[in-house]
Amino acid sequence: ATPTAIMVGTGLGAKRGVLFKNAMALETSARVQTVVMDKTGTLTKGEPEVTDVVTDGLEETELLRLVSAVERESEHPLAQAIVAYAAGRGLDAVRAERFENVPGHGAIAEVGGRRVLVGNRRLLEREGVDLGPLAARRDELAATGRTAVIAAIDGRAAALIGVADAPRETSEAAVAALHDLGVQVVMLTGDNRATAERIAARLGIDTVIAEVLPGDKAAKIAELQRDGRKVAMVGDGVNDAPALAQADLGIAIGAGTDVAIETADVVLMRSDPLDVPTALRVGRGTLRKMR
Ligand code: ADP
Ligand code: MG
Repeated sequence: ATPTAIMVGTGLGAKRGVLFKNAMALETSARVQTVVMDKTGTLTKGEPEVTDVVTDGLEETELLRLVSAVERESEHPLAQAIVAYAAGRGLDAVRAERFENVPGHGAIAEVGGRRVLVGNRRLLEREGVDLGPLAARRDELAATGRTAVIAAIDGRAAALIGVADAPRETSEAAVAALHDLGVQVVMLTGDNRATAERIAARLGIDTVIAEVLPGDKAAKIAELQRDGRKVAMVGDGVNDAPALAQADLGIAIGAGTDVAIETADVVLMRSDPLDVPTALRVGRGTLRKMR
C-alpha cells in the first residue's frame, strides 16, 4: 500500500477505535479468510456469575466455604465468580494450603485437612475421581450454555456450581457481519464442548473448537492455516497470547490482559466484537485504494 493509503486507513481505524499497530496489520486485515474468536472475555463479557449450586451429601454453605477457600487463591474468572458468590452469602474466609493451579483444568488445595478439587471433568479424570450421580445435572447445565464447575472433596464428587457468562451485546451481529464479508468464523475455547456449542449456536457460529488446553491454542490456529488460509485470532487472555502471535493477524480486546494487547497486531479499543468486521473492512478499503 502507498504511504498515503496506509495513513488514511490507520486514521479511519483510529476514529472507530481500531488501532492498527503497523502497515502490515492493515494489509493483512484485507486478506483474512477465517476469524477465530476466543469465547470467554471475547464473545462473552467475561464476567461469570454463579447461577446454580447442586450439592450431593453436603451442606451448601459448607461446600461453598471449602470451594471458595481454594478459588480465593486462583486468578481464573470462574474462581472470582465463585468467591464473589460465597462472599455475597456472608461466608467467612477459611485458609487453603498446598494450593496448586492446574491450567485448563482447575485448582487443588487442602482446606481444614480435606483435599478439595475445583475444576472441570478433565481435572477429575486426572485425579481419578468419578462424577457419579452428578453427571446428569452437569449435562443439563451445559445444555443451557452454563459452565459446570465441579467440586470434589477427599476423592468424591460433591457438588456442581453452574456459572453463566453472558454474550456481549454485539457478538451475534459481529458474527453475522463477518459472514456477510465471506469470512469463516470459529470459536476457540478451553470450556467444555456442550457449553461452547450452546453459546456458539446462539451466536450463529458453526465451527467450535472446545476443550483446548491453554498451551494448545496456537497449534489449533496453525492447523487452520495449513492450507494457506489467512487466519485472524481475536482474544483477551494471557492464554490467548501464543495464538495471537501464531495467527496471521492477532486482534486483542482492549479490555483484555496486557500480554494479549502487546502481542496483537490490532487492538479494539472499545472491546466491541463489531469492530472485528470493521477492522477487516478498513483493511479491504485500504488495499483497494492502492491498486
Ligand atoms: P477458557 O478461558 O477459554 O475457558 P481456560 O484454559 O482458562 O480457558 O479454562 C479452561 C477450563 O478449565 C475452564 O472452562 C474451567 O472448566 C476449568 N478451570 C480452570 N481454572 C479453573 C478454576 N480456578 N476453577 C474452576 N474451573 C477452572
Ligand atoms: Mg478469554
